[in-house]
Amino acid sequence: MSDLILLRYGELGLKGHNRSFFIKKLKENIRRILDGKGQLTSAHGRLFFHPDGNEREAVEKLQRVFGLVGISPAREVHLDMEEIAAAAENLISGMNMGTQTTFKVETRRSNKSFYLNSMEINRDLGAKLLKTFPHLKVDVHKPKLKVRVEIRSKAFVYIDDKPGPGGLPVGTGGRGILMLSGGIDSPVAGWMMLKRGIDVLPMHFSSHPYTNERSLEKVKELVKILQKWGLKRPLYNVNFTPIQEELIREAPGDYLTILMRRMMIRLANIQAKKSGEKSIITGESLGQVASQTIESLHSTGVLAESPILRPLIGLDKQEIINRAQEIGTYDISIQPFEDCCQVFVPTHPVTRPELTDIEKIEEKLDLDQKLLEAIENAEKI
Ligand code: ATP
Ligand code: MG
Repeated sequence: MSDLILLRYGELGLKGHNRSFFIKKLKENIRRILDGKGQLTSAHGRLFFHPDGNEREAVEKLQRVFGLVGISPAREVHLDMEEIAAAAENLISGMNMGTQTTFKVETRRSNKSFYLNSMEINRDLGAKLLKTFPHLKVDVHKPKLKVRVEIRSKAFVYIDDKPGPGGLPVGTGGRGILMLSGGIDSPVAGWMMLKRGIDVLPMHFSSHPYTNERSLEKVKELVKILQKWGLKRPLYNVNFTPIQEELIREAPGDYLTILMRRMMIRLANIQAKKSGEKSIITGESLGQVASQTIESLHSTGVLAESPILRPLIGLDKQEIINRAQEIGTYDISIQPFEDCCQVFVPTHPVTRPELTDIEKIEEKLDLDQKLLEAIENAEKI
C-alpha cells in the first residue's frame, strides 16, 4: 500500500492558456472513471489521487484515462532525508526482487528551498540504500529499479511507474458522431478519437427485423468497453429499416452499399445539427472493401457538413485487429451477428462510382422525411 497515486500528464503541459481547461476536463474524467471514489488534488504539473480502498483497481482504471502519461503509487513524506530514505526502503522491501538488482535514484526538485539539490539527493539517498540493501548495485545507465523522488511542498517517493494511455482528455476536442457498427473497425476508430479528446456520440444504424436482436446487444457491449475509456454519451440507435427498404425497392442493387453509406452520412448531418456535433467519425480504411476506394469515400465525403474523421485510413487490417485486442473490443466484434449492410451486400458492388450517376439515382428517391423521422425517433440507450 502507498499513500497516494501520483499522476503525470503529457501534452497538456504544452497548451498555454488552455491549460486550466484541459486540467479541469482531465479531473472530471478521472472522477467519472473512478465513480467519484477517492480524492483528487492538484499541484503544479501533477495530480494526486488518494484512493479509498482498492488501489490496484484504481490504478487499472486510471490507465484508461486519456491525457495521463504516468501513474505511480507513491509515498508522501516530510521534507527530510531520513523520512525519504525510510519511504524508499519501505517501497523496495515491498518488492520481490532478485538478489542482484541494480538501481539508480532520480530526483526532481521543484521546491528550490530544499537544502540539497537533485544531484546531492541522488547521492545521499543512493548511499543510504546501498547500506540498507547490500545486494543492490548502482547502475546509472540501465538500472533495473528506478527510485524516484520529487521534492515539492512535501516529498514524494515512488518506484512503480505505470504508463498512462497518453492523448488528450475526452471533451477537450469538441463533439463528434461515431458511426458505430458491430464490426472490428469502428470501435477502434472511436477509441482513437476519444484519445484525441473528442466527446463521442456513438450512433448505430440497425435494421430490425433483418438483423437480429443480438447484433444490437453486441453494439451495446462495444459501447460499454468504450465507456471504460471515457466515452460519456449514450448509444443512439437509429432505425434504418424504412430507409433501407426504400433503397432496395427503388435503386439498382450494385449501388446499394454506396447509397446506404450516403444515407448514413445524411442522418449524421441531421443529428450533428441537432446536438452540436462538429465531426463524423468512421472506421473506414483505404482500399479495405469496395466501398472504401477513394471514389467511394468521396461520394460520402461530399455530403458531410462537418469533417469526416477516418483515423484508420492508413492502417492495415492486422494493425486494426491488434489495436482492437489491446483495447478490449476485438472479442466482441468478432461475434457472428449480421450488420444492416451485410444483409444486403450486392454481388457486384460498384467500386468507382461516379457522383453524377449516384445523384441521378437519388433524384428518384424521396427519403427526406424518413431521414428526419429516423433521427427524431432514435432510441437512446
Ligand atoms: P466496421 O468493422 O467498423 O464494421 P467495415 O470494415 O465493416 O467497418 P464498412 O461496412 O464498409 O466497413 O463500414 C464502414 C464504416 O461505416 C464503418 O466503419 C462504420 O463507421 C460505418 N458503418 C457501417 N455500418 C454501420 C452501422 N450499421 N451503423 C453505424 N455505422 C456503420
Ligand atoms: Mg462492418
